[in-house]
Amino acid sequence: MLYNILGYFFFYALLGFILAEAATLLTTVYLHRSTTHCSVKFHPRVEFFMQGGLWLTTGINRIEWAAVHRYHHNHTDVDGDPHSPILLGLWAVQLGNLFLYRKAAKRPEVLACAKNIKPTLAEETIFKSPKVGLAVGIGLLYMLVGFRFWPTLIIAGTHTFLYLFFLNNLINGWCHVRGYKNFKNKPAFNNRLIAWITMGEGLHNNHHHKPGNPSLRYKWSEVDLGWIFIRLLCSLKLATLPTSR
Ligand SMILES: [Zn+2]
Ligand SMILES: [Zn+2]
Repeated sequence: MLYNILGYFFFYALLGFILAEAATLLTTVYLHRSTTHCSVKFHPRVEFFMQGGLWLTTGINRIEWAAVHRYHHNHTDVDGDPHSPILLGLWAVQLGNLFLYRKAAKRPEVLACAKNIKPTLAEETIFKSPKVGLAVGIGLLYMLVGFRFWPTLIIAGTHTFLYLFFLNNLINGWCHVRGYKNFKNKPAFNNRLIAWITMGEGLHNNHHHKPGNPSLRYKWSEVDLGWIFIRLLCSLKLATLPTSR
């Protein structure tokens, strides 16, 4: 009986983990590398699906996200950084990243960092409300699991916990204080294990070295799944890279 309950829980928690990984992939390739750093450009149809995926699974405002992240690059680990574990302490960022992000997204000087990014027509119409997006996302999930309450709750709960309180937090928290550096005079650290579960984002010292590089890996032993995905889309002519990199 107990094994059945545990098996049931872990099966749906695994689906929640896969969903969180998919949202993390969209976050790194679209919100981070494309919108924030303009290091890759996606075909408008791909962009539409990426916006839709993020709308259904995260409720994130793309322009706000880019603003907070650009401000972090401009003020890394110095006064004003929205989520620096050097200034605030590791656990304050590791556990409170979401709240620090919400606070930063209200600051006019932060929002000014993304004033050149304009919302697309889909963002101004279909994907306008984050609350509607999340409600539709949960509704779709409920439908996909056969209108069952507990599977919906376990999948959505696991995804929410991992995405909001674990994966992103590892980059802004852990990767700013622990790990190894390829570039000694640049902020942040790399962590290969975190890179695996964050689609390459764990190679954060590499990223701070050259934020405009669409690939976050510098050594053969470093794996950047986000970059593999971008190269796949490039080979299908669904993404392009800037000529000067
Ligand atoms: Zn950073
Ligand atoms: Zn960045």
